[in-house]
Amino acid sequence: MHEWKVPLGRLEFGEDEIEAVAAVYRSGWLSMGPRTEELERRFAEYTGARHAVAVTNGTAALHLICLAAGIGPGDEVIVPSLTFVATVNAVRYVGATPVFADVNGVDRPWLAPAAVSGRISDQTAAIINMAYGGYPGDTAALAELAADRGLVLLEDAAHGLGASAGGRHLGTFGLAGAFSFFSNKNLPVGEGGMVVTDDDGVAERTRLLRSHAMTAVSWDRRRGRASGYDVRELGFNYRIDEPRAALATARLARLDRDNSLRAERAVAYREALAAIAGVEPTAAPAGDSISAHHLFTAVLDRDLDRAAIRESLAGDGIETSLHYPPVHRLSAYSRTADGVNLPQTDEYATRAITLPLHPSLSQEEVGYVADRLAAAVR
Ligand SMILES: *Cc1c(COP(=O)(O)O)cnc(C)c1O
Repeated sequence: MHEWKVPLGRLEFGEDEIEAVAAVYRSGWLSMGPRTEELERRFAEYTGARHAVAVTNGTAALHLICLAAGIGPGDEVIVPSLTFVATVNAVRYVGATPVFADVNGVDRPWLAPAAVSGRISDQTAAIINMAYGGYPGDTAALAELAADRGLVLLEDAAHGLGASAGGRHLGTFGLAGAFSFFSNKNLPVGEGGMVVTDDDGVAERTRLLRSHAMTAVSWDRRRGRASGYDVRELGFNYRIDEPRAALATARLARLDRDNSLRAERAVAYREALAAIAGVEPTAAPAGDSISAHHLFTAVLDRDLDRAAIRESLAGDGIETSLHYPPVHRLSAYSRTADGVNLPQTDEYATRAITLPLHPSLSQEEVGYVADRLAAAVR
């Protein structure tokens, strides 16, 4: 493993968090049970959603919300291309067709309501928004658009845990939202995910489908609540387990503190980068929006050589990344995405760079990254 002086992320677990996991192993019960129920309770409370259903990862959460929304063959679902491939794969898992829409611009790289509007057809069933980098972006406007046009809004809120707009948590603007607890996310567990919804039917269907559509899970049988089960339809094993649920619950207690540390470092980056010509950070959250600051990204001027700048930073021990190679350019999609025109997405994807951002990043490290970036640009 490369020894970065300033890595993109850094994982640190408190003794209390490690103890919470150890306690699960001592309890002798590992599969979905009381700790999962507690995580779901806390998560619903935290996001303000009526229901939270824990699953094995964020991709499973996306798959289940597409199914629970009733999306299927013949349906079109409008998605960003500037996202992780899982957002778009979920649409294909249920046999529907993803339709890509562009982002606003290089300073606001999230799904543009006007672009979405232009892609709505008679087949459109839903829109999936992805709050890029943890910024609420135009989520509220997309919710309004979906309501006006009689479409379902789903949210891939993998970047947005702790983010809100107008006091409303990301993931709760539409019919359902999906979160991820992958190790690079704001609530890192390793693998894990969550579905949130205010809809009783969606919650029930999600609970059923995550465990083979069985009418009882083994925890119910252990508690004597059921002695047998029926299988109602074709389901999946998308269950989380108790050690991961316990870790997620413990981490949730420090999420707001972690996110405010991320926010402070994002402010420091903005101040430092303001002095570097040719480097423009993603627009700061506006109005009543609160970002989860999952990523800190900036676009470089067209005449700057991004690969050379990344290499120079790597030479200084600074890890950088690219979020994302647009999905319509990936081999799995490029053949079917023929004729798709996403100029803002392509422009952003060619010029954007992701800098290190995590709760234990120090002010000095931000200063060092900015200083080395300024030197690389020169
Ligand atoms: C991480 C991520 C996912 C997938 O989550 P997993 O838990 O890794 O399955 C989906 N969408 C986005 C935007 C992500 O960043």
